[in-house]
Amino acid sequence: MFDTVIAHGTIVTSAATFPADVGVTDGVIAVLGRGLAGRRTIDAAGRYVIPGGVDMHVHLQMPAGDGIVSSDTFYTGTRAAALGGTTTIVDFVEPLPGETLLAALGARRAEADPQVVIDYGLHMTIGPAEIPKLGQVAAAFAAGCGTFKLYTAYDFRLFDGQVMQAFEAIRDAGGLPVIHAENWDVITTLVGRNLAQGRTTPHWHPRSRPALMEGEAVGRVIDVATLVGTPLHIFHVSCAEAAARIRSARQRGLPISGETCPQYLFLDQDAYDAPGVEGCLPVCSPPLRTPVDQQALWQALAAGDLQVVTTDHCPFTRADKARGLDDFSRIPGGVPSIEMRLSAVFQGVRRGLFSLNRWVALCCTAPARLAGLPAKGDIAIGGDADLVIFDPERRLTLSTASLHEQVDWTPYAGVELQGWPEVVLSRGEVIAAKGVCTAAPGRGRFLSRKPQFPI
Ligand code: MN
Ligand code: MN
Repeated sequence: MFDTVIAHGTIVTSAATFPADVGVTDGVIAVLGRGLAGRRTIDAAGRYVIPGGVDMHVHLQMPAGDGIVSSDTFYTGTRAAALGGTTTIVDFVEPLPGETLLAALGARRAEADPQVVIDYGLHMTIGPAEIPKLGQVAAAFAAGCGTFKLYTAYDFRLFDGQVMQAFEAIRDAGGLPVIHAENWDVITTLVGRNLAQGRTTPHWHPRSRPALMEGEAVGRVIDVATLVGTPLHIFHVSCAEAAARIRSARQRGLPISGETCPQYLFLDQDAYDAPGVEGCLPVCSPPLRTPVDQQALWQALAAGDLQVVTTDHCPFTRADKARGLDDFSRIPGGVPSIEMRLSAVFQGVRRGLFSLNRWVALCCTAPARLAGLPAKGDIAIGGDADLVIFDPERRLTLSTASLHEQVDWTPYAGVELQGWPEVVLSRGEVIAAKGVCTAAPGRGRFLSRKPQFPI
């Protein structure tokens, strides 16, 4: 007699699709079989049973300067994630100047721990102020930060020699660097030129951040990683040029991986031409690109050139976005996607681009392995019973009314998706069912991570 049995469903993992019941005891997957008996039985007839989603790139309650903070808290953001079938997230630690990495980790955990409804991990950010702190990387790794976030843009921007030094320290600790790669020198030059010429609307945002130079920056950091001898994961690939650099590296056998996000798969740069604040809302970086890039990214997911879909969820309110109405470079960057990711990528299955198993690999299994979460992202005996009963027939039109993110707009308003989570379990507990999240704040656990490579 199991605690819970999920009966009559079709199991989908990254490797196989088969009919079976799932027996869950003590929060762990105890057995896969037929005709199992449990104290509670959840009927999954006509449904897929998949591993809980793993979103290894989100920004909840993230300070963005000028008193602006991304609008989802660790409670509202993880609640929306759960309702969309994601049962693990990885957010970020951003150390303050003069703060040790461990103190910064402790401070971020103090914000997250009382609020999270799902399990979570934290990437440690290595900015220019952290270069003198690289001797602390091993301690951060030992404290559970298996992954380290680097930037070649913004105030976090590292120069190439600093990237090299950071890669060396992360390599020596056994960690995995993850990186935002754009060419900041070209971007700041183009932004300055465009603003000086009165080109202040968000139309000029993508035109100040050329896809060609995202490809250049991705290729450059791959080369530095190769020089150092470290694996590397490329964040939020937005364009064909960047995907091509990752494909080329993998063809040479290098331990490089890449991700894209729903905004790059569903939206394009024409969104910036909407009048007024509407054109400001979808500003994110890298920017939305062309429909040709969008198709190239779907193809890259299908071909295995990109291994992961994350969201880079980072919502800001309409009022915060409006601060950049007269200057596109002042618009806080980021869009909300945390709730719709599983269904969004499922559309690739519906369109015949890739298999159910590839969908699970992209959203669950590959990010779990890459982020260092061996108990997550799969349906395997002994693994955490993080499970999604997914109704492939359910249709949902996305809107601020149908989504649960704490933000007063969505870039996907009117987008109709088919396929949506019906019941979501985390460590055997039903945390969301039929659009209602019943999980208590703080039930989620901080996960200490050691990445697995290559994927
Ligand atoms: Mn980024
Ligand atoms: Mn990000």
